[in-house]
Order: sequence, then structure tokens, then C-alpha cells
Amino acid sequence: MPLTLVILGRQGSGKGTQAALVAEHYGVIHISTGDMLRAAVDAGTELGLRAQAVMDAGDLVGDDIMIGIVRERLGAADIQAHGVLLDGFPRTTAQADALAHILGGSGPDVAVNLDVPIAEVTQRMLTRGRADDTEETIARRLELYEAETAPLLDWFEQRGRLAVVDGLGTEDEVFARLCRIIDDI
Ligand code: ADP
Repeated sequence: MPLTLVILGRQGSGKGTQAALVAEHYGVIHISTGDMLRAAVDAGTELGLRAQAVMDAGDLVGDDIMIGIVRERLGAADIQAHGVLLDGFPRTTAQADALAHILGGSGPDVAVNLDVPIAEVTQRMLTRGRADDTEETIARRLELYEAETAPLLDWFEQRGRLAVVDGLGTEDEVFARLCRIIDDI
């Protein structure tokens, strides 16, 4: 399989924007699990109906469902041919274990943590005005991030696959930092 990348970062860290830039630059397929779930909600599929309530509450969709969705997507021909940048997955260590298994044991080439402090991401999210961005759900999602996703940093670190990139600065500055990491793979 070609390049397999994971981008981690708090909600509001600029992860989605940078993921799109990286995917374009390296020709890999950008998979955002948040976008996939929102598309399912819009389409009114069974998955969408189940996911909507969970997302509205700022909770995480169950590991089994998420792993199933991602496993199926990663098996598709476009990703097998061009590689992938995962944005929003893995979110828990169970998802990371599953991803390593799907990719053949050793996990993605690198997981980059886009590091932006909590105070800054809260401010950014309050100004972007997405439907699930109320003060209450923002606090809940950040809390969940610390509890469930932060341990992922250790997971990748222990496997020698973690890179940390400072997410403060202009879009171009952050992108250049990401490229330095990926070019080194
Ligand atoms: P944010 O980073 O602001 O949470 P996302 O677009 O990544 O935005 O995700 C939106 C919502 O979709 C999350 O709050 C969560 O409910 C759900 N979600 C996305 N990815 C996952 C995942 N890997 N595991 C569980 N839930 C997920």
C-alpha cells in the first residue's frame, strides 16, 4: 500500500484544512470520518440516523460501527492505489489497534499530532459556527478528546510513529511543517 497517514489534533486545530492540503499535495485520498458520518446523516441512511443523536450530543460513535466503516473504505481500489490520509480516525486505542490490523500489523507510516492549545481551539470553534458547535458540545468534545484520544499519542509514540507539529501560525507555515515530516518518511 502507498503512503498511509493519520492526522490527529483537537477539534478546531485546523486538522481538516491541513488534511485537505496534504492529501492534494501528496496525491493520497483524504478520509474524514466526520464528513462520512455527516454525509450519512444528510442521506438519511440507517447509519446516519443512528449517528445523528450521538454526534448532536458530542459523543463518539461506537468503535464497532466506526471500524466497520473505515475497514470497508480502506479496502476500496482508490485507496489501495493512491494511499490515504485519515482525519478523525483512529479516535480511540481500540480503533488504533483495528487500523494497525487492517493495514497489516504495523499501523500507518506516521501519525502527526497538530498541536493547538485548548483555549485557542475553543475560541476558533465558537467563531466557525457549525451546527454541532455550541459551547456545551465543544466542552464535551474536548473533554472526550483528552480522555479517549490523547492516549493515542502514547500508542503511536510507543510504536515510533508519532510526530508532533505546532499548529499555531499561518496555514502555509503549518503546512510547511507537515511537509517536512512527510517528506522524511
Ligand atoms: P470534531 O473533530 O469537531 O469532533 P469531526 O468532523 O471529526 O469533528 O467529527 C464529528 C463527530 O463525528 C464527532 O463528534 C463524533 O461524534 C463523530 N466521529 C467522527 N469520527 C469518529 C470516530 N473515529 N469515532 C467515533 N466518533 C467519530
